Amino acid sequence: MFGAIYGDIIGSYYENHCTNNYGFLFAKDSSFTDDSVMIAAVCSTILNDPSEIGILGIRARSRQFASRYRQFYSQYPDAGFGKMFSEWAKDPYAKNNRSYANGAAMRVMPIVYAYSEWNQMMRQVEASCLPTHNSREAKTAAYAVAAAIRMALDGKNKAEIRKYIQDKYYGLSQPLEQIRATHVFDSRASYSVPPAITAFLESHDYESAIRNAVSLGGDADTQACIAGGIAEAYYHEIPNHIKEFCDKKLSMTTIKTVVKQFEEKYG
Ligand SMILES: [Mg+2]
Repeated sequence: MFGAIYGDIIGSYYENHCTNNYGFLFAKDSSFTDDSVMIAAVCSTILNDPSEIGILGIRARSRQFASRYRQFYSQYPDAGFGKMFSEWAKDPYAKNNRSYANGAAMRVMPIVYAYSEWNQMMRQVEASCLPTHNSREAKTAAYAVAAAIRMALDGKNKAEIRKYIQDKYYGLSQPLEQIRATHVFDSRASYSVPPAITAFLESHDYESAIRNAVSLGGDADTQACIAGGIAEAYYHEIPNHIKEFCDKKLSMTTIKTVVKQFEEKYG
């Protein structure tokens, strides 16, 4: 999980200072953003109630996710949440949002670790999407990221992961270099999530996945969060200098406490 959170932290500065430089520096002003807060909220939901659900349980489960999203939002309202999400989070009676952005895909990682059985995992992913990202586009991105992480954890290689995602969710034929040439900041799920997956597929270790994602020059924190989450599951190794840089930004946060607790149970 920290692989995703570190990606969020490293990418945070470049969300506002877009770069195409693969060798970019880790910026002093980096901090965790809404991506990390929501990953912690998902961890908290699962720790609080790890029960499996049937198809008929998806709605009830989505209300549990919703209440944790709101709880964590209220702790970190200034972490970079979008306007639509903030308005939803502040209104306890708000209906499910139909956002088509990448916010559902960036927070699914804990579900994959907690539920290894494929159908159960996807049911939980759907429940996690419903409150705020109840659109086909956002859900597809969340399913694709969950699938990639599950396959990485199960020891599948990159060709297998690529083929599965291509057959089921997205064409991934465009190489990163080509994508980078025209890529811009756009949080739309179908625009930003496939390049984040490609950033992982073209990586050779954890750090290169993060660098690939940030240097797309797009929604850097979320794309690095997604690429980092997959890379962590695939490489099982994060360099110490990245851990040290990012852990400082997390000290004394509920995010760290909750995610650590989650990793002790499911990591
Ligand atoms: Mg963010």
